[in-house]
Amino acid sequence: MSAGGPFAGLSIEAARRALAAKFKASGIESPELDARLLIGAALGRDHTGLATQASRLITSVEETVISAFVRRRIAHEPVARILGHKEFWGLDLRLSDATLVPRPDTETVVAAALEILRNELRATRALRIADIGTGSGAILLALLSELPDATGIGTDISMAALAIAEMNADKLGLAGRASFVQCDYAAALSGPFDLIVSNPPYIRSADIATLDRDVRDHDPLLALDGGVDGLDAYRAITPQAVALLAPGGGLVFEVGHDQSTQVSVLMRSAGLTLSSPPKADLGGIYRAVMGRKAAI
Ligand code: GLN
Repeated sequence: MSAGGPFAGLSIEAARRALAAKFKASGIESPELDARLLIGAALGRDHTGLATQASRLITSVEETVISAFVRRRIAHEPVARILGHKEFWGLDLRLSDATLVPRPDTETVVAAALEILRNELRATRALRIADIGTGSGAILLALLSELPDATGIGTDISMAALAIAEMNADKLGLAGRASFVQCDYAAALSGPFDLIVSNPPYIRSADIATLDRDVRDHDPLLALDGGVDGLDAYRAITPQAVALLAPGGGLVFEVGHDQSTQVSVLMRSAGLTLSSPPKADLGGIYRAVMGRKAAI
């Protein structure tokens, strides 16, 4: 039987190189890595597995799977979406069309939240956490994985996203401490919470068209569009969070690259104290803004 596609009859190594060259010619940002990840996924092998079988020929079934992956990547679908999962804070998270691909930048929010818990909150009972707009559950599940006594609730407007978050909680063995509810921001929650975290939609509506194709054409618009000035979600969530926080509790927001000052002002005028400066991501951008409600 002959396999007709462009990778048929090639060795694994030759297919990987041909694919990297094709991605490069198509303007894909990390052609080598993407080629390796997609061929590895098509063949069910990790990096080492591919290396040890480098000279084996690609089968026709493998060729079909690889070709389908290639078509999707050339259309700028992110590798994480093609694979259906992404690593975040060392956790393997399932994704779907309804969820944002978790970004490394968002790990800054997890780190910031853990810092305020460690340095500022003197909890006398198991912590209660809320994650507003939880998507795949990334931030909440990362925090629960670090805080063995804590419980948390994630909200999302999208039922489809919540189904993925629940699946992730289950797969990570965190389902007993995580629950999920569909609502607008924090509308269905009742406090008190010790910590509220959120990576809300924050892109200005007019800027959506200018985003990378990988983001614009594949991340859910609901998770990106923050209204005319990008700050709609912060204006909605901040007063809700202030009402839901326990005395001394903390609110941590992810913000866009130029929003930390505006979001800080918003939080301060809602009565929160900003005792720590915003926390920068690995690119040096202020990414997480943290505020606390006064302790009694
Ligand atoms: N960080 C995302 C981006 O770079 C935006 C996510 C959001 O709006 N919360 O496009």
